[in-house]
Amino acid sequence: MAVTVSVLGSGSRGNATFIKTDSVRLLIDAGLSRRELGKRLEAIGEDPDGIDAVFITHEHNDHGAGLGPLLGDLPVRAFLTRGTLRGLKADAFELHGGEIVPITAGVSFTVGDAEITAFAVPHDANEPVAFSVKAGGIRVTQLTDVGHLSDAVARNLLDADCLILESNHDLEMLRVGPYPWALKERLMGRFGHLSNYAVGKFIREQFDGRASHLVLAHLSEKNNHPEIARQETLRALKQRGFKTTVTMTNQQEPTAPIRLC
Ligand SMILES: [Zn+2]
Ligand SMILES: [Zn+2]
Repeated sequence: MAVTVSVLGSGSRGNATFIKTDSVRLLIDAGLSRRELGKRLEAIGEDPDGIDAVFITHEHNDHGAGLGPLLGDLPVRAFLTRGTLRGLKADAFELHGGEIVPITAGVSFTVGDAEITAFAVPHDANEPVAFSVKAGGIRVTQLTDVGHLSDAVARNLLDADCLILESNHDLEMLRVGPYPWALKERLMGRFGHLSNYAVGKFIREQFDGRASHLVLAHLSEKNNHPEIARQETLRALKQRGFKTTVTMTNQQEPTAPIRLC
């Protein structure tokens, strides 16, 4: 049994994460164009049409804009909360042999050999969730687009073998950066995005250290720098004595596939 993970792209211009188990090929979010999605799957040695199911976290463009075209092209099953469904107007999508399945946060469901749990997250969208996927005893959990880590949310990050976590902005870069104040407030707010500092705090105070891989995602291109985010996380891991491998994602290209077994 092995599970392969690649973040195909991550950031405010489009997100998609590919997870392959023994029996199914899954996608968390469809924020890339159909063409770009195919290209990136090919780049990591996968079939460009090889998607069985997709899970959408929320209706923001960078997570859901590619869902309509994907469902119009491939027989994919799409799982999303009713709020996300409404936000994307997904009822109007043309299907090509696939289906749209409404889900509820806290209620697990299965796709092939994978058991998926959606959990509610604080973010400024209709009914946003994050996903944890477990297959053959291996758990992959992804959390992006989250304003703050309440204990309830942080509990869902325990017991992961691979944890994909948002490290959106550096607080100082955001403060002095080019964004208008209202947008800065939104990003820093309790329903915005997670900072490098918040990730470090999570690692120091709540992380169980079980994951062999920690993948930092949804980095801002204007208000963060990959090396600053990476160093902040490495410092916190070192303080805890964890030997977790840290992988950075970016907007332009997929990460090398991470194989978990
Ligand atoms: Zn986003
Ligand atoms: Zn969002």
